[in-house]
Formats: sequence, C-alpha cells, structure tokens
Amino acid sequence: MKVQKTIKVPVHHRTTDKKLSYLDNLTARLTYAVQLFCRRLNENDRVPEYRSDVREFSDHVKKETGLSAGFIQQAEDKVLWMYRQYEKEHDKWEWLMEKARDGTRWHRKLKSREPSVPNPDKSNKKIPTPFDYRTGKVQRTEDLDLTRLVVHISTLKKRETIDVLLNPSDWHKEQLEEAEEIKTFEIVHHPERECEYMVHISCKFETETARTRAVCGVDLGINRDLSAVLIDDYGVKQFNIIRNEKSERLEELDDRISHLRREEKYEVLKKLRNKREKVAEDYDRKLAKQFSKSMPDGTAVFFGNPKEIRYHKYRGNGDKVGRKLLQHWSFSRIIDKCILKLNETGNVGLRAKEWNTSRLHYKCGKQVERPYEDSFQRIKCSTCDDELDAEFNASINIAVKGISQYSDKSIESDNFWQNMAGVTDELARTMDDSELEPRMSMEAPGLSRE
Ligand SMILES: [Zn+2]
Repeated sequence: MKVQKTIKVPVHHRTTDKKLSYLDNLTARLTYAVQLFCRRLNENDRVPEYRSDVREFSDHVKKETGLSAGFIQQAEDKVLWMYRQYEKEHDKWEWLMEKARDGTRWHRKLKSREPSVPNPDKSNKKIPTPFDYRTGKVQRTEDLDLTRLVVHISTLKKRETIDVLLNPSDWHKEQLEEAEEIKTFEIVHHPERECEYMVHISCKFETETARTRAVCGVDLGINRDLSAVLIDDYGVKQFNIIRNEKSERLEELDDRISHLRREEKYEVLKKLRNKREKVAEDYDRKLAKQFSKSMPDGTAVFFGNPKEIRYHKYRGNGDKVGRKLLQHWSFSRIIDKCILKLNETGNVGLRAKEWNTSRLHYKCGKQVERPYEDSFQRIKCSTCDDELDAEFNASINIAVKGISQYSDKSIESDNFWQNMAGVTDELARTMDDSELEPRMSMEAPGLSRE
C-alpha cells in the first residue's frame, strides 16, 4: 500500500538576500498567475472540471505574467486543485443542507456558510504552487558546507536555474531517505519565520500491509479522547483509554474567546482563533501517534465514523451547535491522522458504520440504559442486566461492524462470542474511580489481560 505525506523543510537561514528576493519575485508572480486564472474563471461563472477548462485562459495569463510554460502549468495545477477542494466542500455543505430542517436556527446558520468559490484576490497571502520535474527538483548535494539538501528550480529567465539551500533536521533527512518517490514540492511563504520560506515536499511511501492478526474497535469521545478494544483470536486482549487535556484546554480558550467577543477585541480574537486551531491540531497529532504506537503489528483498526452522526438533531443556541459541529470535524481529523500513522507502521485503519454502536449491548444486541446510575460512563443492558462501561461496549460494537463491513468472511461466531463471554472492563472502572482525584496522567497504559 502506498501512502503520501508532506515533509516541511525550512529554507536555510543563511540564504542570501539576492536569492530571497528571487524567491519573493517568483512566488509573487506565480500567485498573480493563480489570481488571474481564478478571476477569469469566476468572471465566466465557471468551475473547471478538467485541465482544458483552465487552459483556455493560459495564453492570457502567460502574457500578463511573463511566466514560462512550465510555471504556467504549475499554476494550472494549483487552480484545478483549488476548485476541486471547493467542489468537495460544497458537496459536503449540500449534504448537510439537505439534512437540516427548514426554519431552524441551524438551517439559517448553515445557509450563511455556503462555501464560496476560490477567490485569491480577497486575501493578500501568497499561494504556493506545486513544482514538479518541469520546474524544479529536490536534490542531495555533497558540494556545499552549509547543507546536504537543496531544491533546484528554474528562474524567470530562460535556461537559468538556482539552488535554494534547505535546512533539514535529522528527522527530515530520515523521512526523505525512506521515501520511495518525491512527487512535487511547494515553496511556501512563512513571513513569521526567520528564513521566510519553507519547502513542503510531498513524498510517497510504500508500507507493507501485513496479514491481519487482530482487530481493534475505536470510539472517540470528549471525556475520554479515545477508547479502543483490541480483539484477537482469544478474545479481548486489551482495552485502552487515552486521554489528553485537549477538551479542557480548548474550553479554556473558548472561554477567553467569548470574553474577548463581549469586549469586542477583534484583533486579539483573530489571533486566538488561530491559536485554538493550532492547539487542537497538536493534541490530535499526539493522540494519533500515541494510539498507533500502542497497536501491535498486523492489526486492522476500525473507527466509528463520525460522519454518521445526524447533524440535524442539534438544537439549542447557535454557539453550542457550532461547537458540536467543530467537535465532529475534529473527530474526523483525528481518524485521518490515526489512519495515516497506522499505515506507516503497516497496520490498516478503516472507518466503520457507527449506527447504534452506543445504543445496543454488544452481547445480546438489545437496548442499553444510558445514563445509568447518573453516569454516562456506565450502561446497563435492558434485557440481560449486564452492567458495563459505555465506551467499552461501543468499541466492541464498532469492531464487529467493521469486521462484517470489510471482510469477506464473517466472524467465527461461536468461538468469538465464547471468548468474549469472560471479558471484563476492569480498566474503565479503575480509571473512572481514579478520576475522582485531580487528573494527573496524560494517558492510561495499555492493560493486558493474561
Ligand atoms: Zn444484554
């Protein structure tokens, strides 16, 4: 299986001013080219589907910008990509609109959030465009004192090229060594950095998908960020609960944000929103890393798919709706990151349909009582009176759904359920008891049943 990953390497801080101004000029012109394409497309009310739809305007853009054919194609690539992203977003929005009930606050809110066509004229940010074999190359070099890695790019003058020195960390070097193929790279403007630019290199990696020896069901949540049940031929092998302080930290930031909103401090507000996004992503990345590390080789991991959550069910005030929606996008992002991490180690990550996974008892398939004894964490089966941890139950249900959804053979049911009969959710109990004390640890260690 092949996976794609972007490696972000800073441009060397000792790059000469002359070269930097070259980069400034080149990236500005490429940005202008993208702007011109978008302007033309938007004027004509067109969303390009194929390259030919963009290419129609290439002569015009070429004349205006003085860029060579290679660079123009590079801009075309970017424009095509931007509109495809837009289409995707718009499809998602339409899907949500269909589900939303007319006349509700949610419907009105959603309506005002229709994704708009790409319009780079609106922002003064530089738009990175993908360099490929026509316009540049990532190269290793032995001739320079400062670095072993450069990008070799065409300039605006014919047949003239320059080397831009990069400053890779050991980790970058390792990744590039391992990469099977370097696809494209983008020179991205980072005005806040000393070197002002970073090179985002998109690489392909080959990972081996081993034979599946175990399956794991994963349930994402707010109180516990991630609960996972690992099941092998002998039944439940591990019940993991991973918790980090993401929701507490975000709540804190949200409080500050609403405070600033009341005070109408819009400048600070903007900064804080960006910060919130960064903090959230950082926690998600760590969570994905930590989780995928805990999975043994040859595991197929099924994630409850948050897409299945019914958006139109939300009522109440607008802020709450927004927050919940964010939460679901965040779940989706966590899953993406986990799948990527799992792939890197040769495991498989897949999304499973999540209907009813938290409402039904995994053993008998009957409804559960929730909350039970004033706790959303515990549930009780309405039929067999079993009492158990809510996320433990959901995770097993997700694993079972995943198996039936993705594998051609069904579970060896007799054996499987027999082995599951003695299963306990002891960890959940101890975790929740210790929760009465202040939160000390970031994570619960994986617990093995012997
Ligand atoms: Zn039951």
